[in-house]
Amino acid sequence: MSTPVLSTKGLTRDFGPFRAVDGVSLDIRPGTITGLIGPNGAGKTTFFNLISGALKPSAGQVLLNGQDITGLPPEALFGKGLARTFQIPRPFRRMSLLENVMLAPQGQRGETVLGALFSRAAVRAEEARLRDKAMGILEFMTLGKLADHPAGQISGGQMKLLELARALMGDPAVILLDEPAAGVNPSLTRVLIERIEELNRRGTTFFIIEHDMDFVMRHCDPVIALAEGKVVFEGTAAEAQTNPLLLDAYLGA
Ligand code: ADP
Repeated sequence: MSTPVLSTKGLTRDFGPFRAVDGVSLDIRPGTITGLIGPNGAGKTTFFNLISGALKPSAGQVLLNGQDITGLPPEALFGKGLARTFQIPRPFRRMSLLENVMLAPQGQRGETVLGALFSRAAVRAEEARLRDKAMGILEFMTLGKLADHPAGQISGGQMKLLELARALMGDPAVILLDEPAAGVNPSLTRVLIERIEELNRRGTTFFIIEHDMDFVMRHCDPVIALAEGKVVFEGTAAEAQTNPLLLDAYLGA
């Protein structure tokens, strides 16, 4: 078994007396597209928030390539190669797509502060480098033609592609995707999946929350299921499909 790229150990989060994530220990193997499923309220988003630094755990640890990253803020994690997207994209709506992508590392790594220390020529060179990189990523995500459009004017599906584009600016080793296919039309879903699979072939590990079981069965392996804050299943997508516990969870039993 290869060393996990991402691990949680006893990860727990309480909201008052309610335990939303309950001692979750799991390993994400490098090079996988791992699916995270479970009924509404199972704790999936909270679990992602704990890994990605949006929420602090009540107990437990998160390890990235064996390094303890528990409680680090998202911008620190972005620099370490862990990126996430949100179920509801949050672009800067008045800025262009290109600006949105260029801002990803600056806003998240504090490079603007560093920039103040460099000469203007060095800052311009760095900006040109970021612009080229952002443009290349937009083209890869099939958004090149829209680079100068305000992000508030593109479709919800295109915003999901933009979210992934922003994540790619950090050259992440691991990308957490929260319901990438939700609300996305079939042709953009196809683009999104092709890009995820291409990035995965190049070595990026994905950890994906997805409700669309068809998506999970086709594209995720392995699959992990949460229910009431606990891991109730780990296995292949095919095993998930025939697991009675999961059928119960999805039927709300
Ligand atoms: P899922 O993503 O699997 O639908 P969530 O992680 O969103 O589940 O929620 C798990 C549980 O934690 C739910 O019962 C939800 O109401 C609760 N919860 C999530 N965030 C908060 C919060 N900020 N305050 C209180 N309860 C929360």
